[in-house]
Amino acid sequence: MPTKAMFLMIRQLLQRPFTNPFPVKYAPKNVTKTIEKVKLGQMSINNPIPVPDGFRGKLKYDPERCIGCRLCITVCPANAMEWIPEVRKIRHYVTRCMFCGLCVDVCPGKKLPGETAPVKALSMSKEFLLADYDKYSDNLIVEPTSKEQSLNNQEPSSDQK
Ligand code: SF4
Ligand code: SF4
Repeated sequence: MPTKAMFLMIRQLLQRPFTNPFPVKYAPKNVTKTIEKVKLGQMSINNPIPVPDGFRGKLKYDPERCIGCRLCITVCPANAMEWIPEVRKIRHYVTRCMFCGLCVDVCPGKKLPGETAPVKALSMSKEFLLADYDKYSDNLIVEPTSKEQSLNNQEPSSDQK
């Protein structure tokens, strides 16, 4: 007797894969030559599947919209956020992050002059290629830039207090 699991299995067999197929049919003997052939149009490869909307990749942080409420630090289950008291902003360690998106959900953000609604200071990008030799490399730490830090060294506005 057909079960729900069987229907699911058949449906998944007929669906397109969610993962990227290997770029070429067989592992090439010489990767450099294969890439050159692709560049010259002598060979085609499987293009990567586009990153879907709603993908939870590397966190993006807009310090200008951060009001320093620290809600993101409170909800983060991975302790991936650090408070920078001198500038009343946050620092994010990508290598600790588990990409749950809770910090984005709670972030109230800020409304800038001319805008009708606040925009979150945190959002999730589509960036997912995050391998690095150094877990403290610039690529894996998201924080206010030095320019933004100097701007925010000024007295906090009323909504930041
Ligand atoms: S996405 Fe989740 S784990 Fe990563 S910083 Fe935000 S709350 Fe923490
Ligand atoms: S990033 Fe968002 S949640 Fe975190 S301190 Fe700034 S405003 Fe608050």
